[in-house]
Amino acid sequence: MMFSTHTSFTQLGFRTDTPLPTAWTIFWKIIVFAILEDFYNYWIHRLLHWKVIYKYVHRLHHEIATPIAFSSEYVHPIETFVVGLGTFLGPFLLTRHLLTFWVWIAVRTMQSVECHLGYDLPLSLTSWIPFWGGPVHHDFHHIKPDCNYSTFFTIWDWVFGTDIKFREAQHIKYITGKSSWSDIIYKLGLASYVNNSQSEKEKKGN
Ligand SMILES: [Zn+2]
Ligand SMILES: [Zn+2]
Repeated sequence: MMFSTHTSFTQLGFRTDTPLPTAWTIFWKIIVFAILEDFYNYWIHRLLHWKVIYKYVHRLHHEIATPIAFSSEYVHPIETFVVGLGTFLGPFLLTRHLLTFWVWIAVRTMQSVECHLGYDLPLSLTSWIPFWGGPVHHDFHHIKPDCNYSTFFTIWDWVFGTDIKFREAQHIKYITGKSSWSDIIYKLGLASYVNNSQSEKEKKGN
């Protein structure tokens, strides 16, 4: 499917000729693409949950309560199109080379599959990037659809206060030894339940 974009995207000004972009250029552009898509996707995802339109488009994806890898593609065609605009946003702004675009689409597809995987694998990016969403974060969205709208990173859910239920649930699991999930917000002590945890320890210490 990716390579079928060759014809259509060359008509939009993309190219495959040399010089090829360097690995560093591809790397930093993909970081920027992910940041742009993450912010766009957060708000589009919240919009798709607006009760006026939810039943027409996004409810299909939420028929799945316990995601598996293929669930990432189980979406309404309108959702594919609207979310896809965010995927193309970065490439249209920052590159005209199809190699960069194809690497980005591969990364984006793997990210979408990973967050629907249903397994928090030991070497997953959640272990390496301290603000990566991953399957634990997105699984919770399928359980409680009114929180955790982010897919790439955890930042916007925290900024806009849409991950409070998730953090509370993880905190309860954490203190009972059933969860090791954490992110940069947890590690910096910025989530409210972390402060509660600290005050609980202080009380126990007294
Ligand atoms: Zn999902
Ligand atoms: Zn949703």
